[in-house]
Amino acid sequence: MDFDVVVIGGGPGGYVAAIKSAQLGQKVACIEFDSNEDKKIKLGGTCLNVGCIPSKSLLDSSYKFHQITHGLEEHGITLSKPKLELSKMMERKNSIVKKLTSGVSQLFAHNKVTSIHGRGKLIDQNTVEVTDDKGKKKKVTAKNIILATGSRPINIPSVPWNGTTIIGSSGALELTEVPKNLAIIGAGVIGLELGSVWSRLGSKVEIFEAEKEFLPMLDKDVSRVIEREFRNQNLNINLGCSVEGSKKSRKGVTLDINIDGKVDNKNFDKVVVAVGRRPFTENLLSPNCGLELDERGFIKVDDYCKTELDNIYAIGDIVRGPMLAHKAMEEGIMAAERIAGKKMEVNYDLVPSVIYTHPEIAWVGKTEKQLTKENIEYKKGNFPFAASGRALASGESVGLVKVLASKETDEVVGVQIFGNGAAEILQQGLIGMEFAASSEDFGLTMFSHPTVSEALHEAALAVNKQAIHIGN
Ligand code: FAD
Ligand code: NAD
Repeated sequence: MDFDVVVIGGGPGGYVAAIKSAQLGQKVACIEFDSNEDKKIKLGGTCLNVGCIPSKSLLDSSYKFHQITHGLEEHGITLSKPKLELSKMMERKNSIVKKLTSGVSQLFAHNKVTSIHGRGKLIDQNTVEVTDDKGKKKKVTAKNIILATGSRPINIPSVPWNGTTIIGSSGALELTEVPKNLAIIGAGVIGLELGSVWSRLGSKVEIFEAEKEFLPMLDKDVSRVIEREFRNQNLNINLGCSVEGSKKSRKGVTLDINIDGKVDNKNFDKVVVAVGRRPFTENLLSPNCGLELDERGFIKVDDYCKTELDNIYAIGDIVRGPMLAHKAMEEGIMAAERIAGKKMEVNYDLVPSVIYTHPEIAWVGKTEKQLTKENIEYKKGNFPFAASGRALASGESVGLVKVLASKETDEVVGVQIFGNGAAEILQQGLIGMEFAASSEDFGLTMFSHPTVSEALHEAALAVNKQAIHIGN
């Protein structure tokens, strides 16, 4: 055999699995090709090249721009009108991506992971065929194989991408001008994050969402506050509508939008399609390799990411569960450890989610809706940031922390946060939940004052009607 472990795909799942396997003493190769969608994806996968990192770079830059134009006056600071240099903002984003992707190559070199350039295909239980850019094929053999080929955006037939006026998320991270009128199809994570970026930079953004309910993964008392705030931010969100067609217009695209049975035509300079992603598994499995895809194109795995073949694992966006980089990375570690004979598990009950709007939306564990469905009795505590001294001092008092705990044991079973710094605050809740902390444990923990994290402390106290800074 050429290698102990061969990983197909160099995204956050694949590169982490490769590094971990090498750290565990295995001889490892990682196969990665430059996949084309809107843009080339290289080592680092979707996350580093066209996902988490470039989107957060633009979110942070656009927020700084927005803050100068809105929100500093109340602090007694007035500035003359800021000038936007979009090309510089994009250059900064590209340089961060380059730094991080070349960092992965350096980590491979440091850990002696062999990097193989080309498209991998599973031929049999121990053989991967690699096709390079010129179509030349070679075979690589391995005792164990980890499949980590990620995902691609879903296209909708009524609004097919053309790469110029109708684009996907990668295209929306590369625009060279701020569109005057921007339509986004899908009010999910990408729609809200990229809608925020372009709205802050001056676009008039309209979002069209098929579902009638906004952010259905959250409880209504939380999603209602979020919807209200986003409307205040001029993110025009239309729920329960379907985009039935699209036509090229003089300046961009005309969309035929069906809202409540009435079809309306609207013109936009650009349209971003963000209606979800699908596993990238085309041509990954040869017909006799011993594995098959499920009906939605995912690879079937058990709780430990092992496929139907004992020595082959599949991780990240190509397997069940949320399509998130941190989930892919944890699965990469688990696959590497299990191949090395260790017993690691991923706690799928506690996968955190964050939408990096401003304020951020972050949640983990169960919602009231899920607890009710599972017949679990619960208690809840909400604490609004409007009652937090630190949030008020910084002028960031929108939103709330919500804590759900079991009625029987007081163990915290869910946290939902909408507010400035929600992602970082959530992590504190998550660590407690990993150790089965009760709401009383959170209540007995001393939090620094004044911090926005105190809102988590107070929400936990509110679960047992013991909050100090709001009425119980
Ligand atoms: P990928 O990152 O997709 O990597 C798979 C790699 O495999 C790719 O590089 C591809 O080129 C390669 N490949 C595919 N087929 C083959 C083959 N046959 N041979 C060789 N190589 C192959 N998640 C978060 O957790 N936080 C965020 O903030 C976040 N923001 C996002 C923003 C956007 C705009 C998008 C699109 C996604 C975002 N995500 C975010 C999701 C995150 O990017 C994915 O969940 C994550 O990248 C999945 O990792 P992966 O390793 O499974 O796959
Ligand atoms: P999503 O699933 O979050 O949202 C897609 C939205 O489009 C849904 O609300 C869905 O109801 C709607 N939709 C589907 N078909 C539609 C149609 N025909 N017309 C109108 N609306 C329609 O997917 P996404 O925003 O494309 O993101 C893809 C994946 O990338 C997600 O799984 C997400 O986890 C991941 N991602 C994560 C982050 C993050 O963690 N911050 C950021 C971006 C993307």
